[in-house]
This record gives sequence, C-alpha cells and structure tokens, in this order.
Amino acid sequence: MHSLLDQHPRASLGFFPTPLMNLQRLSQHLGGPRILMKRDDQSGLALGGNKTRKLEYLVGAAIAAGCDTLITGGATQSNHCRQTAAAAAASGLECHLVLGGEAPPTAQGNLLLDQLLGAHIHWSGEWRKGEQMPQIADRLRAKGRNPYFIPYGGSSATGALGYVHAAAELKTQLDNLDQRISHMLFASSSGGTQAGLIVGAHQAGLNCQVIGIRIDKEEDADTPYAERLRTLTNETAALFGIDQRFDADAITLQERFTGQGYGVVGDTERNAIGLLARTEGILLDPVYTGRAMGGLLRLIDEGVFGPDDTLLFWHTGGAPTLFPYADALLDKPH
Ligand SMILES: *Cc1c(COP(=O)(O)O)cnc(C)c1O
Repeated sequence: MHSLLDQHPRASLGFFPTPLMNLQRLSQHLGGPRILMKRDDQSGLALGGNKTRKLEYLVGAAIAAGCDTLITGGATQSNHCRQTAAAAAASGLECHLVLGGEAPPTAQGNLLLDQLLGAHIHWSGEWRKGEQMPQIADRLRAKGRNPYFIPYGGSSATGALGYVHAAAELKTQLDNLDQRISHMLFASSSGGTQAGLIVGAHQAGLNCQVIGIRIDKEEDADTPYAERLRTLTNETAALFGIDQRFDADAITLQERFTGQGYGVVGDTERNAIGLLARTEGILLDPVYTGRAMGGLLRLIDEGVFGPDDTLLFWHTGGAPTLFPYADALLDKPH
C-alpha cells in the first residue's frame, strides 16, 4: 500500500505515528465497550490536529508544482487555517488566510496563533468557507506570486490521501498489539478525513465500520453532504490509484448531533468535554471532537454497540479553541 502512496509528493510536517491509547477509565465508567483513541491531536505541528496529515500531501503538491504561496480559508477559529499557517512557515512558503467574520478587538485561540505564525489575514464577513479565495489568488498572481489553492478544510482528494496513510498507520499499530476494532468514529465536516479513512480502511483491510459524526447542520450546497462525501471518496480512490469505487452504502454518517449548528456549544459538547477531561485527563474541543464524542456517548447509551465491540475514536484536535469558548464551556458563570 505504501508503494501507491509513495507516488505522491509528501512534505514531512508532523510526528507520526500518533499515539494509540486505550481509554480504560472511560470504558469502566460507562460499563463498556472497549474504547481506543487515536491521538491525531498530537500530530506535532503547532498544537496539532487532523489537518497536519492532509497538509503533508497538499504542501507536497504545492512544492512539486513550483508554488511559493498557500491560500486557504475558514472560520475565525479554524484549526485548518492555523495548521496551514504553520505548514507554510515550516516549508518557507507565504500563507494567506481568508477568514469569516470581522477582525475581533483581541486575537485569541487559533487567530492568535495564525498571526504568530506569520499568516496574512483577509477578513471576508459573512463568508465562512473561503468563498473569496479565487479573487485573492488573482490579486496575488498580479503581484507575481504563484499561489497554491487549498480548499476549505484541506478536503481535496490530495488532502484526503493523508487519511489513507493514517488508516495504514493505524492497521500497523493494531497488528502490533494483536488488536481488532469493530467501529471507528470521528468528527466529519469538510469530508477529507472520512473520504481518506473509507479508502484507507478498505485498502488496509481494517474490516470495521467507518462512522462519521456530522458537525455542520446547514446544507450549503444543492447536493447533500453524504453525496459530496461519496464523490470525494471516489476521487480519493482514483488519485490513490485503486480501481475500487464506493457506493452510497459505504458512506455511514450520524447526522443527529448537529445541535444548534456549527460552532454552537450545547449540553452534548459540554458534557462530553467534561467527562473526558475528568475521567482521562484528555482535552477535547468545543466545535468538533466534543460534539463527535457526545454522539459516540449517546450511541453507547442507546445500546448500538455490543459488549465485544471495540471502538476507535479519532481525536482530530482543536484544543486551541477551548480558550475563546471559555464562557460557553462552563455551565456556571465565574
Ligand atoms: C477540520 C476538523 C475536523 C473535521 O475534519 P474534516 O476532514 O473536515 O471532515 C474534525 N476535528 C477537528 C478538530 C478539525 O479541525
């Protein structure tokens, strides 16, 4: 499998493999099942997260194409934008970020880090998903730069190769422990993580259910998320270089946990973040992993999994946003 991935240029940006741990205290607290956690929050690039794996292939492609500038976009507190800023700095590239909203009076969390990492920030008001990137790319080209365009969340087929690689990495770790998993679960938003894991789990023979817990409530396109995800999955399979194509049955999504919408913290997130912090000393994040773990806890509660199942949760990062969300995270005012 690695020989297929080796055909794609890859920049070395993180520390891999990321740790695989057994959440024994959490399982005990819940009365089962067994829960493993893959610590992609510890990927090592400027506070880590799942975008590091995608950026290894995206920056590899940018450098191979002779580009000197990365451009991407997202929300004010985007983990993807912060990791892109760090990837650019580590690779000697210029970085332009198109962020939704207006410049706040003080920069906190990821926005603070974007600035420390030397990114150029363009505020785009109500556009939260980098819709204005093409115009900014045109302006950069007029100034003689050669920008590489990274889509929202780094979720192109090139970026998703990072999670094809991650699935192979996980398979090796599980084999070394003589361990099998029945289900893997993770936050799913722009889709690159899920697309890569579907292709990678198939290729590595992980033989488990791949379940994305959807984060975004709103449909922002004419095409439903599951359908866009299937397209991205098949583009990823084609780019990776296998003949296998995936039909709608291969896309498993839990879309019931989107609460009040993207980035709005409710009881689901607050409770999951508190429980993991107190039982395991692990910090989840308010936007993605808090919601995904909240969904996982609910599924356990509903009896979806059997006592012999082993679940694997991908911790995809995001802890820098705990600070800007401080008020929403504590149920009592301080
Ligand atoms: C971006 C992100 C996700 C979602 O990954 P996608 O590939 O966009 O679906 C999950 N968790 C965190 C912390 C993220 O920053």
